Amino acid sequence: MSALPLPTILLNLHNAAAAAGRPAPRLLAVSKTQPADAVAALAAQGQRAFGENYVQEAVAKIDALAALGLEWHLIGHLQSNKAELAARHFHWVQSVDRPRLVAALAAHRPAGLPPLEVLVQVNIDDEGSKHGCRPDAVPALAAAIAAEPRLRLRGLMAIPAPWPDAERRARAFEAMRTLFQALAAQYPQVDTLSMGMSGDYPEAIAYGATMVRIGTALFGARPRPA
Ligand SMILES: *Cc1c(COP(=O)(O)O)cnc(C)c1O
Repeated sequence: MSALPLPTILLNLHNAAAAAGRPAPRLLAVSKTQPADAVAALAAQGQRAFGENYVQEAVAKIDALAALGLEWHLIGHLQSNKAELAARHFHWVQSVDRPRLVAALAAHRPAGLPPLEVLVQVNIDDEGSKHGCRPDAVPALAAAIAAEPRLRLRGLMAIPAPWPDAERRARAFEAMRTLFQALAAQYPQVDTLSMGMSGDYPEAIAYGATMVRIGTALFGARPRPA
C-alpha cells in the first residue's frame, strides 16, 4: 500500500462519515517504526494525534518532539512492568485489557499531569487477537477505570480481524457498536470508539467509529515489520 497525502485521508474520512450521516472521526496517525522526522513532517501539516505500539520506542520520539505539543496514544499491548513509563509519557492508553493494568496506570500517573485518557481494548473476534478483554468483561473493567481519579474512561478500542468474509467483519463491527452504545449510556464522559485501520476504515466508520488508527495508508509501508 502506498502512502496518501494527509488531506486525501482526511477527505476519505469525511466522505465515509457523511455517507453514514455521522461527523468525521478523529484521525490517529500510527507512527510505530517511523522515525521522528516522519512524525514531524506530518505534524507540520497539522496532524496532532499519533499512535505508537512500543513504549520505549515511543518515549524516545515523545521526548525528541516534546516542543511540538503533540498528543500521544499507546495502542500496542502494554506489559505491566512498562505501565509506569507509559503513565508518565502518554496522553492516552487505548490497550487497557485487565484490572492489574488499571491499578498500575492509576498508581503511576504523575500528580502534575491531567488524568490519563483510557480506552478498554476488546477482543471482539475471540480468535482474532491474543490481546483485549472478552466483551463480557467490559462492564467491570470500565467501572474499575471510572473509579480511578487519575484515569479517565473515554471508551473502547478494537482490532477486528480482517476476515475475507464481509458479513463476518460486519458482525464484529456491529458488536463493538452495541458495546459502545451501552457504555456511553452509562458514562457521560465516554465518547470514543477507536476502530478502523488502513485496510478497513471506511467500514469501521459506517459502524460508528469516532477514531480511526491509520499507519500504512499515511506513511507507506513500515521500515520494519511490526
Ligand atoms: C499498526 C496498527 C495500526 C495501523 O495499521 P495500518 O494497517 O498500518 O493502518 C492500527 N492499530 C493498531 C493497534 C496497530 O497496531
